[in-house]
Amino acid sequence: MRVIFHGAAGEVTGSCHEVEAAGHRLLLDCGLIQGGREDEARNRDEFGFDAGAIDAVVLSHAHIDHCGRLPLLVKRGFRGPIWTQRATADLLKVMLEDSARLSMADAERARRRLNEGRGDRDDEDELEPLYTLDDVARTLKRVRAIDYDTPTTLFPGLVLTLRDAGHILGSASIELVETPRDGKPRVLVFSGDLGKKGTPILRDPAPVPRADLVLLASTYGGRTHRERAATVAELGRVFHEAWDSRGCVVIPAFAVGRTQELLYWFAQHFDAWGLQRWKVFLDSPMAAKVLDVYERHAAIFDEEAKRAWAKRPHALRLPNLHLSESTEDSMAINRIDSGAIIIAGSGMANGGRVRHHLRHRLPFERHHVMFVGYQAQGTLGRRLVDGAAYVRILGHEVPVRAQRHTVGGLSAHADQPALLDWYSQIADTPPAVLVHGEDDARQALARAMRARFGTDVELAQPGQARSVGA
Ligand SMILES: [Zn+2]
Repeated sequence: MRVIFHGAAGEVTGSCHEVEAAGHRLLLDCGLIQGGREDEARNRDEFGFDAGAIDAVVLSHAHIDHCGRLPLLVKRGFRGPIWTQRATADLLKVMLEDSARLSMADAERARRRLNEGRGDRDDEDELEPLYTLDDVARTLKRVRAIDYDTPTTLFPGLVLTLRDAGHILGSASIELVETPRDGKPRVLVFSGDLGKKGTPILRDPAPVPRADLVLLASTYGGRTHRERAATVAELGRVFHEAWDSRGCVVIPAFAVGRTQELLYWFAQHFDAWGLQRWKVFLDSPMAAKVLDVYERHAAIFDEEAKRAWAKRPHALRLPNLHLSESTEDSMAINRIDSGAIIIAGSGMANGGRVRHHLRHRLPFERHHVMFVGYQAQGTLGRRLVDGAAYVRILGHEVPVRAQRHTVGGLSAHADQPALLDWYSQIADTPPAVLVHGEDDARQALARAMRARFGTDVELAQPGQARSVGA
């Protein structure tokens, strides 16, 4: 068995690892590269392998940087099954359809620019979408959904087991066991993105018993997160402060994971935070679809969430929660002067409906904006967090007088102590290759693993191959 690293080796997005095992070729994930325009242009590049020669894909979870190039893989000739956990299979449909719609809208805009003589010859690639809704439909037909902890034979001599990674609903660590006819079994483990212990709704990351090689996703390998309790207390303080100032609260949030976590905290602290007096808007059709998927898969919630499920208010459907479906519903929120909590995408405010809410609320001191996730360089969210006095939104120069709050600590990623803890539960501290993560994060984690366990650990490089065991 052998692994070849293609994507997310030395960067954070574009997860894609090739595995040769039992005479077959597999991919672990096939993710979209995210970032600036130049980074995203690389999504159109060759894969570095022949899509038609791949026999199967195993998908760790539904975040777009892990699944977003699957329709392109199918478009370029992949005809095998895509194995994944059941909830991920449902989320995959939501994520890929959204991604195709965005890409089709971008292509349409590029064509219009060109027709109006504003286009640039260099943009020619962008006149075609990366993939369409038809490509997505063809991709979804290839999905084979399985449960956690259920060994599944992919090919003779190759067995897959998915373990709960506790990162988002349906997220999995991937365990592949190859048993040659005449030799002893070899085990390859890919952690996938591991979540934090105690993340609401989700179970804690499950350990894997044994491995000959571990691919460890180390996005936050250099960090220690702050305590969740402090974060939750801070959320409550912002709502009280905002109520006293007679304003509204705008929260840019990602549709998958963060939004559901917020709603869960709302339900848990409904009375203490005085939330019954607010109107809560979930202004994201995508997040609403994701809520439906969560509800269908309550069986994989943690015990606390299952208990909360039986109570009122129901953990994800507060009595005063309004789902804004249409653009008109979304615009109507602008007429509310005070007492509205507005959760809207995108999470870094660089797109989506949250922009028009910010445009309307930022000029007034009584309103509040709460950031609950990472804000990348170059995004509107980051400029606001950094204290910009003016920002440009939808063609308007907008003065920023609203109160800004950055609430850290709601990360969906395991930090260094949690990664070390997960790794320490695998028998005999096997060799490890660190994937996903900028080099300083990976180096910090590698140093810690060497010091604590004497692990044979290296950082994956694009194009590099590594054999499993022996
Ligand atoms: Zn993820």
